[in-house]
Amino acid sequence: RAKQSGRNDYRFFTPEMQTHSDRVMRLDSALRKALAREEFHLMYQPQIEIATGRIIGAETLLRWQHPDLGQISPAEFIPIAEDNGQILPIGEWVLKTAARQTRQWLQDRDHAFLIAVNLSAIQFRQPNLPQRVLEILHETGLPPEHLELELTERIAMDDPVTAIEIISTLRKQGVRLSIDDFGTGYSSLSLLKRFQVYKLKIDQSFVRDMTEDPEDRAIVHTIITMAHSLGLTTIAEGVENAEQLALLQEMGCEESQGYFTGRPMSADSFGELLQAQFGAQT
Ligand code: C2E
Ligand code: MG
Ligand code: MG
Ligand code: MG
Repeated sequence: RAKQSGRNDYRFFTPEMQTHSDRVMRLDSALRKALAREEFHLMYQPQIEIATGRIIGAETLLRWQHPDLGQISPAEFIPIAEDNGQILPIGEWVLKTAARQTRQWLQDRDHAFLIAVNLSAIQFRQPNLPQRVLEILHETGLPPEHLELELTERIAMDDPVTAIEIISTLRKQGVRLSIDDFGTGYSSLSLLKRFQVYKLKIDQSFVRDMTEDPEDRAIVHTIITMAHSLGLTTIAEGVENAEQLALLQEMGCEESQGYFTGRPMSADSFGELLQAQFGAQT
């Protein structure tokens, strides 16, 4: 019946939808060339041990500078890259670049420092993921003990049996895993126990309102208590002020990541911060 369809078929296609799908198509095609055109770069956001204020790690955050459209948020382009398969080469580039950078920051010194890299569901489901991670670590010379891979709660719980297996393989290689955006999915406690993860990242939506909203405060408190009973560490995401930080510390949360304890920054700026800390170490 397609032959018969005239322009009338477009009557439900509003100008807004047209604009949206035009943009998606445009980003889709631009993404296929973005790596070769070197349009990506990484930012690093400090992760702080609350008790001491020391930097114990950083999260790697991908940035895309489109030549005409400017900076595009990963929240917008990652789903498109997942749909067109580009997330695989892009994800490898992120891992390689972050690992090489971290190796350079640490040199051969044995500092306690973890570089965290986000994994997409598509990457996580690649059967050769553990092997590729090992190869990249080997190529860049970063010891596996310095790498942390972030998996969202949704990805982990979507197919828990497979997740448990992959996490266990990565753990045996010395790589750590953490659960990102924790609290937004539906974790089963018994499953969580079987995941060999070491850290829960408390989702920023709970942290944002915890000083005003008793329910969010209760959720944060519950996550921390539960994590500790399972032997896991907690890091709060999206910490934006001193009040939140104090409350988190009171609740026993170990680590903070947020604008208050450090914005995402360039590799150079982050390197200077680290140098100041490591240099002062005895
Ligand atoms: P995420 O992994 O949960 O990363 C944390 C996000 O919160 C980052 O947004 C970060 O810039 C932002 N953030 C940090 N501190 C604060 C704060 O105090 N307040 C507020 N309001 N926001 C804060 P960003 O960089 O826009 O990244 C968004 C999401 O895109 C990430 O969420 C992650 O899911 C995804 N993403 C980023 N880089 C990568 C990557 O290399 N690979 C994959 N697969 N996903 C990535
Ligand atoms: Mg993350
Ligand atoms: Mg998160
Ligand atoms: Mg997120």
